[in-house]
Order: sequence, then C-alpha cells, then structure tokens
Amino acid sequence: MADEATPDVTILGAGIVGICTALSLRERGFSVALVDRDPPAEGASHGNAGSLSPWSCVPQSMPGVWKSVPGWLMDPEGPVALRWAYAPRVLPWVLKFLAAGREDRLPGIADAMLGLTRPTVELYRHHLAGTGHEGLVRDSVYVHVYRKAESANLNALAWRMRSERQVPLELVTGEALREVEPALSPEYEAAVLIKQQGRALDPGGIGKALAEKAAAMGIAFERRAVQALRPAGTGWTIETDAGPMAAERVVVAMGAWSGRLLAGLGVAVPLEAERGYHLILKDPGIRLNNCIMNVEGKFVASSMNAGVRVAGTAEFAGLDAAPDYRRARVFARMAKRMFPDLNTEDTIEWMGRRPSTPDSIPCLGPVPGHDNLHVAFGHGHTGMTMAPKTGDVVARRIAGETLDIDMAPYRIDRFG
Ligand SMILES: Cc1cc2nc3c(=O)[nH]c(=O)nc-3n(C[C@H](O)[C@H](O)[C@H](O)COP(=O)(O)OP(=O)(O)OC[C@H]3O[C@@H](n4cnc5c(N)ncnc54)[C@H](O)[C@@H]3O)c2cc1C
Repeated sequence: MADEATPDVTILGAGIVGICTALSLRERGFSVALVDRDPPAEGASHGNAGSLSPWSCVPQSMPGVWKSVPGWLMDPEGPVALRWAYAPRVLPWVLKFLAAGREDRLPGIADAMLGLTRPTVELYRHHLAGTGHEGLVRDSVYVHVYRKAESANLNALAWRMRSERQVPLELVTGEALREVEPALSPEYEAAVLIKQQGRALDPGGIGKALAEKAAAMGIAFERRAVQALRPAGTGWTIETDAGPMAAERVVVAMGAWSGRLLAGLGVAVPLEAERGYHLILKDPGIRLNNCIMNVEGKFVASSMNAGVRVAGTAEFAGLDAAPDYRRARVFARMAKRMFPDLNTEDTIEWMGRRPSTPDSIPCLGPVPGHDNLHVAFGHGHTGMTMAPKTGDVVARRIAGETLDIDMAPYRIDRFG
C-alpha cells in the first residue's frame, strides 16, 4: 500500500508531454511527482523546430509515400536516412507505417491529430501565464515554400485534407511572398501560408519555464533513471537507479524510451526513435518572421532566441546509436540556398529522438489489463504542438471527468 508521502500520480519523463500532464493534474488538485534521469525538457522537447501548429492534420504516412523513399535514402542530403544494420529491426514498424497511409484511413487519423493540435497556442498561453516567459510563444504563419510555382498545388491531397478541415490557407507568389519573408531567395517562387498558428522562440525554454511553474505549484521532481515497473497491490513499484519508489498511479511519458519500459511488462507497442537533427546558426545576420517549411527538403527554419534554427531529418538507427552530425551540418548548405544572406559560420549541432508511432497519433490513456497505469507518448513530429492538450486529456481521464474528445484513436492496443 502507498503511504501518505506517495503522490497521487507519478509521471515518468519530464519532457514537454510529462510537464504539461503534471500541470493539468495539479490544476485538478492531484499531488504529482515527475521522474527523469535528466533535467526537464532536454530530450526531443529541447531541440525541435518550434512550430506550434493548431492545424496539423497530415500524417507522415501518406498514400504513395513509398515511391519517394528509395530516392530519399540514396541522397546524402535527403530527408530520410537508414543505418542499414538497423533495417531488419525497423521493418515491422515500416510495414505498419505504410499500412497507416492508406487513403481510407486518412480522415480518422487527420481528425485524431486535430483533436490534440487545435488548442495548442491557447493552452501554452494559459500555462505560461505568470511565469515571466509568456513571450516565448509568438503568433506565426507557417510558410510552406516551393521552388517552382506549379508545385504549390492546393489540389494536392495534403492541402485538400487541410482545406476540408477549414485550415486557413493562402497561396502567395513572387513579391507577395518576399513581403512575408524578405530573407527568402527569389529562387523560391511560391508558398502556401497556413495562418493563425504559433511558434516557439525557445522550445526547451518553454519546457523549463513550465517545469519551474510546476515546482512552484508543489510538483516534486525526482532525478532518477527508471529501470522497470512492477505491480504492487493496487499501485506500482518503480525500480530506479536510486532504489525503488512507490506509486499509486503511473503515467509513462518517456517519449521514445517508453516502448522499452513497457516491453518489460509484456506490453508491445510499435514505437520508433525517429531521430531528427538541428543546426543553430548563432549569428545568422538575417531574421525570419515565421516558421518556414522547405516542402521539398522537409526541414523547417525559424528565428529563435539562440539564432536561426534549421531542423528536420528522419534517421532510423534505433534509440542508442551515436548521432551522425553530418545530418545536422548539411542544413548549413541547404539553408544558405534558401536564405542567401545567412551567415553559417557559428553553429550548434543537436540530435533528438521523436517518439513515432506508425499512424502519427500518440498513445494516450489507460493500459488495458494494468490498473492505474496510463500512457502519454508517441507524439512523433508534432509533440511540441500536442503536449498541452495531451496533458489535459490524460488529466481528465485520470480525474474521471467527461472527455471532450473520443479516446478510441489514441488507445495503446489499437495496433493489434
Ligand atoms: C528535429 C525535430 C523537430 C521537431 N519539430 C517539431 C515542431 O516543429 N513542432 C512540434 O510540435 N513537434 C516537433 N518535434 C517533435 C517533438 O519535439 C516531440 O514529439 C516531443 O518533444 C516529444 O515530447 P516527449 O515529452 O514525449 O519526449 P521527450 O522530450 O524526449 O522527453 C522524454 C523524457 O523521458 C526521459 N527518460 C527517458 N528514459 C528515461 C528513463 N529510463 N528514466 C528517466 N527518464 C527517462 C528523458 O530524459 C526525457 O526527458 C520535433 C522533433 C525533432 C526531433
């Protein structure tokens, strides 16, 4: 039995998902502990591209995506990389990924994504209120740029999916595009603007500001490496490198590492570490007004407090392989082509692991067959955006409140 000092909920993982979940639980009166081997928001939540897109509804797996993969893999500057020794291990996930891209599955996936993305800016502003760091979230447009005007085709499936869901879009070309982003090379003839969204000036800084707020609200932070979970009465024992911890209810929010922990309980989930890189140009000499997506190169550039951050790449090499920072360094050349006045002299390289499910939807809610065990992981490319609503949904579920979204698409056992 848990004693009085045992918090009502123990969250494993102090990334942006764990932190937002802790805040939403605390707002409902729960006592909460957050356990992480590292300081808060230093995993994927530190180095992402900072796009806070309330309109994210297009999954990574789309019909016909497989046709592009061989070309991407052969191109050293391409958006997808595979370490060949890892290929047999990732194959089952890839097959599920391709199955998720069937056209008939897209509407359900798109709506499930939107269920978590829509309120992102409003909820970040709510959580950041009073921290002194409110300015870390800015209003933005998401500028999707194309070299050739004819490629910016609003009849393409991904844009149609957005239009059908009332995403505010505008096609701009030539001078109108230059007005939106003066630093962009005239080689880029057109862009589709996704309006009314946000961008983060320091994604990791947002996580740290919210962690400070959480601590001030009485949330305990335990700096430990989690090794295993064991059922104990109606609750759990968490085995850590600093000894066991008793827990009443557990939320697993360890990002890309969550699958490994659950495997120890016999819970299988297709979760890949989709490794992404960023390069910060510390003294860029230019300023970007918005998040800019290079659609063909599949990377994002944005002005942040630390400089211009260029982020992207999907590298499949497993959780533990060492970073290959060549994947970050190629961004210098690619970004220079986009922004000719960019100074690429002084840089910081980074790699982080996106926790990716095959269908671009995270796993949220209780784990069937395991009382008082909940999950909040698998946010892939859109976890910075989805984190605040994830926290809200998971906290409501634990509190037994009525939910404003259908939880079925997020069930951990949906993969069969
Ligand atoms: C290059 C790149 C660009 C991206 N761009 C965007 C974007 O523009 N917009 C967007 O919405 N999303 C973006 N993302 C995705 C987003 O960053 C992630 O989905 C999100 O950060 C996941 O948050 P998390 O809290 O689940 O995981 P993490 O931030 O990785 O946190 C997991 C935590 O668990 C802890 N942990 C793991 N194992 C253990 C253990 N055994 N014991 C104790 N602690 C443990 C880790 O230390 C870490 O703190 C991007 C990601 C990358 C890599």
